[in-house]
Amino acid sequence: MTFKLHNTLTGKLEEFVSLEPNQVSLYTCGPTVYDYLHVGNWAAYIYWDTLVRVLMANDYTVNRVMNITDVGHLVSDADEGEDKLEKGAKREGKTAWEVADFYTKDFLNNSDRLGLVTPQHIAKATDFISQQLDLVRTLKEKGYTYQIDDGVYFDTSKFPTYADFAHLNLESLQAGARVKFNPQKRHPSDFALWKFTPEGEERDMEWQTPGDLLEEQRVAASGAVPIMGFPGWHLECSAMAMSLLGETLDIHTGGIDHIPVHHTNEIAESEAATGKRFSNYWLHNNHLKADGTKISKSLGNGYTLDDLEKKGFTPHDYRLFVLQSHYRTEGNFTFDNLTAAKNRLHNWRNNAALRHQIHDTLTDDRDREADNKAVSLYATSQALLEALGNDLNTPEALMLIDDAFSRLLGAKLENIHRHALVELLETIDNTLGLQLIDSSDDISDDSKRLIVQRTNARNNKDWSQSDALRDELLGQGIVIRDTLSGSVWEYVA
Ligand code: AMP
Ligand code: ZN
Repeated sequence: MTFKLHNTLTGKLEEFVSLEPNQVSLYTCGPTVYDYLHVGNWAAYIYWDTLVRVLMANDYTVNRVMNITDVGHLVSDADEGEDKLEKGAKREGKTAWEVADFYTKDFLNNSDRLGLVTPQHIAKATDFISQQLDLVRTLKEKGYTYQIDDGVYFDTSKFPTYADFAHLNLESLQAGARVKFNPQKRHPSDFALWKFTPEGEERDMEWQTPGDLLEEQRVAASGAVPIMGFPGWHLECSAMAMSLLGETLDIHTGGIDHIPVHHTNEIAESEAATGKRFSNYWLHNNHLKADGTKISKSLGNGYTLDDLEKKGFTPHDYRLFVLQSHYRTEGNFTFDNLTAAKNRLHNWRNNAALRHQIHDTLTDDRDREADNKAVSLYATSQALLEALGNDLNTPEALMLIDDAFSRLLGAKLENIHRHALVELLETIDNTLGLQLIDSSDDISDDSKRLIVQRTNARNNKDWSQSDALRDELLGQGIVIRDTLSGSVWEYVA
């Protein structure tokens, strides 16, 4: 089966070919841990988790790094403004270290609740300072850096393909930059690799700048004070990706907001240092809106997973909501849309529960044939993998599942083949992470006895007894659906 991905590098849908057979090195730009993640952030991580799952379903071993940006991400995304972590610290009356620790734990805890596959490496930027300084050193040695009052910068004019990745128009950038940018910068697109702590300012997170990285001795007023500094956000990702995965990665992912600045800069500094291509495939998720507008704290639409849970929605309801849109289209979060996803997931669980109510009567091979004649669940598993192998087409995958389940609804129980149903459920859970199997336990023997009694009462036309038993079952969270081939139990919504 071919596996195709849309590569931002070429702007094309391409067949995925890994550097090493059946192995993938993957880097995902992780969160800046200065606040709770909102639904838009989580959508990004759900999409990249789906990528990991689909790679694994295609027999790839995935070696993945997700970074935790715990320093150096400035409010502007570029070189201006406050460090988001230091800002969070002021807001909460804590140190930047405490803020980072708190929101990192919250991120990891909620990632688990969403069923996101844990990356092989979760790399905190503050744990990789020496690798980042080494990268600055290499760039300095190769002549790509210059120093100004507030830090060591990358000279983008020395990297001739700088504008290519994001199709930037550097001339218009220059024209628009006259007022806004630091006048000491040689070009508006130049970016800080390492920033100095401003004199007279105290930062929670800062490291001594090694003397060999400084172009000229910058001695503070007292004469002997070391020049403290901190890394730029782009440098962090390049250094962590290359030190953990090697100089060329198979796949690098992030949000579309990363294309013009963050990823453009990652490419420039990495490729300038190594002379090699940094990543063969670049994948970008589009942005989610909420209530029809851009997500923003000030608009009150930066919903967190906790906000959703307070309204009765589980992390898996949200996961299914996200998968309803393709990762490259712009989604819109509303509570109505989330309710629709919740209902869809509930129906799917009831279909999953059918496996407890049908019998293994046929051997495997005959099972396959009979399934193909009846409801074709084996074929659905295959089609699902193909849809996901086509640039992670999750909306189509969900439609295939709906179609298969609606065929089950019209089928006689004896025509549904347990093995085929279980295989389909496993394929859904492995690729889409919806935990249908884990969330559709069998009912108790006591409940099953009540169902038999109710069937007997109905057969004897004892309607009042049958109604009483139905109510008792409802009290246990079970609803009975009478079909042509007998009663089927379902979970109460
Ligand atoms: P940040 O913590 O700001 O670095 O963002 C974490 C991740 O969320 C990044 O990969 C962003 O691209 C992504 N992101 C931010 N806002 C949205 C959004 N509205 N929809 C989808 N992804 C987003
Ligand atoms: Zn990054």
